[in-house]
Amino acid sequence: MAAGTLSLFWGFELYHHDDLTFDPKRPRGAFNSYTAFRKRVEEGSAVRASHLETPSFKMAAVHWSRGDAEVPSLQKVMGSAYRADLDPGEEQDPRAEIRWVGGETAALQRVQQYLWDEDSLGLDYVGATMTMDPAKSCMRDRAMSKFSPWLAHGCLSPRKLYEEVKRYERERRKNKSTYWITHELLWRDFVRFGSIYAGTSIFLIGGPQNVRPKWSWSSDRERLNRWIEGETGFPFIDCFMRELKATGYCNHMGRETAGWFLIADLGLDWRMAAVWFESVLIDYEPTANWYNWTYRCLPAASKVPIDRLSSVEILKWGTQHDPDATYIKRWIPSLSSLPGTVAREPWRLGLNDSDGGVASDGLRALPKSGQFSVSQGPLEALISMGFDQKDAAMALYQTWEDADAAAALLLSRNGASEAKMDSDDDDLARAVALSLGENPEASGPVSPPQQGFRYGVDYPKPMIQPVSLMNTEQAEDEARQHQSRRDQQIAASKRQKGSGGQSFQKPN
Ligand SMILES: Cc1cc2nc3c(=O)[nH]c(=O)nc-3n(C[C@H](O)[C@H](O)[C@H](O)COP(=O)(O)OP(=O)(O)OC[C@H]3O[C@@H](n4cnc5c(N)ncnc54)[C@H](O)[C@@H]3O)c2cc1C
Repeated sequence: MAAGTLSLFWGFELYHHDDLTFDPKRPRGAFNSYTAFRKRVEEGSAVRASHLETPSFKMAAVHWSRGDAEVPSLQKVMGSAYRADLDPGEEQDPRAEIRWVGGETAALQRVQQYLWDEDSLGLDYVGATMTMDPAKSCMRDRAMSKFSPWLAHGCLSPRKLYEEVKRYERERRKNKSTYWITHELLWRDFVRFGSIYAGTSIFLIGGPQNVRPKWSWSSDRERLNRWIEGETGFPFIDCFMRELKATGYCNHMGRETAGWFLIADLGLDWRMAAVWFESVLIDYEPTANWYNWTYRCLPAASKVPIDRLSSVEILKWGTQHDPDATYIKRWIPSLSSLPGTVAREPWRLGLNDSDGGVASDGLRALPKSGQFSVSQGPLEALISMGFDQKDAAMALYQTWEDADAAAALLLSRNGASEAKMDSDDDDLARAVALSLGENPEASGPVSPPQQGFRYGVDYPKPMIQPVSLMNTEQAEDEARQHQSRRDQQIAASKRQKGSGGQSFQKPN
């Protein structure tokens, strides 16, 4: 056997280590924040051409004998450590958006598909860290590139990807989305080079900043397992955790909010959770995982966990990114019969009521104290239809503020009690029924929106006291409108592209 020299190449990052204007070991402020880092690299460094990554051999290339033609099974490789119950096998979960196949060929095919075939980069792309724009939802198919497993395992060079993005900008379109993917690749460099500086402190419980919460970290395994299994009772957390377990992937917002919740609301030692991520992520990469935990999630420890939910992003972002709870219902099918608002916040089913909640007719029981509050928007909508304010408020409360269900309930009650409706009221009843898309003549019993769903059995009650946000319906509506406008723009651009390239002659 001949001896040879081992050469190492800096090919994993977007920016080459030697092109930085600072030494990552002695960075002079470059890692104070992501923004500081981004400014330093954007101002002083350039991205090298990807073809420079190809190593040139001074000696004759080494020839390896061909390995086994077949990849050995997991069971064979792992021997006695293999556990069949943890092996997801080759079957793809039908709910997953894509199936990742290893290797450079598949990686380049995905680039071709996402950028060129589907035009998704310029039209659908939202990006891992873009959470604030109400028109953009991270929870839609095609909103994420899903390049991360290929990037993490060295199947896709970030410089090659960068060149393709630049070419796309020249040949197709240049917009905020095309900038944003480069920004995400810079995030990737930030965690890589930042870890050179932080060293092993990313594995310490206080992280590089030595964060010390006012409470003691808990290592309660049972709580951790509920979080891992997606059984916390908070659908916005559970949908991501279930997706992660089934596919090895969930988007950045899901990873981050699940991390905040685990730290600030459950007070658990986050390293147990980071180890779970390490074991299950299909894009696992040590610095991306551990640095993100310490940089993005650990600051949540400065919030004091109390006995009620403090990570309100779980409610706000759920409303903004998933107004109809479509994504939540995809990963938690037991919630699919519920109205969107209730599927996102099932504690509206009456958890806080002293009497425990659901009455025998399936509607939410009114609190014994007689005091309750409902959102102004839907209440005004019902009053403007001619319903009495008090009746409308009660109906709204009983239907978890589903205005359509409340109107139907009020109408059915009016009929049942044979409260005399004059002809105006009949007209109103017809108008409301029509506006609900129903046949006004068929006055059947009201179906409670959650019929068949057993709260606490089909889906767990929350691990900690939840809260509900004010004006959720209004926020849902705004998100829906923004997103549907964006959908229309995307569809129009795709149609244009579809007819693009063909030239038409004006008929004579
Ligand atoms: C707690 C936690 C753990 C994480 N663990 C990992 C991990 O092990 N491996 C991993 O690749 N990413 C990790 N991330 C970062 C991020 O969530 C994923 O990179 C992203 O969700 C991948 O989806 P995408 O390819 O569609 O991203 P896109 O939005 O398309 O971004 C393009 C690429 O940029 C990189 N990127 C984007 N954001 C980040 C970021 N914050 N940190 C590092 N790289 C980023 C990824 O390589 C990604 O493929 C973690 C984030 C958190 C909060």
